[in-house]
Amino acid sequence: MENCIFCKIANGEIKSEFVYESKNTFVIKDLNPKAKTHLLLIPKEHFENLNAMENTQLAGEILETIHNVTRKLGIEDNYRIQINNGKGAGQEVFHLHIHILSNK
Ligand code: 5GP
Ligand code: ZN
Repeated sequence: MENCIFCKIANGEIKSEFVYESKNTFVIKDLNPKAKTHLLLIPKEHFENLNAMENTQLAGEILETIHNVTRKLGIEDNYRIQINNGKGAGQEVFHLHIHILSNK
């Protein structure tokens, strides 16, 4: 998707360090962290938000990635996840992403 910041990060057009990567997702640090650890888990494929993601296999991979990245960082017992779905909920970037926040 043109002019999508997360698509540009996904395809390497904009450089960003991947904290973790799976076949169809990657995890980066949020630019403006709202917690000690603030990560964004992002599918490589563009979906505007959760409503557009009908791929249940990817849903499983997202859950597995949450398990793996939080274990990798040692925050597996101390995190919460958040999806801002739609303008009304404060979504600013219209490429699906899952916030992973921890005070550890
Ligand atoms: P939303 O409100 O859409 O759920 O959150 C978008 C998030 O993306 C915000 O927390 C914002 O700080 C983060 N963000 C926006 N642009 C960039 C970027 O270019 N790189 C990174 N790493 N995070 C970004
Ligand atoms: Zn995108």
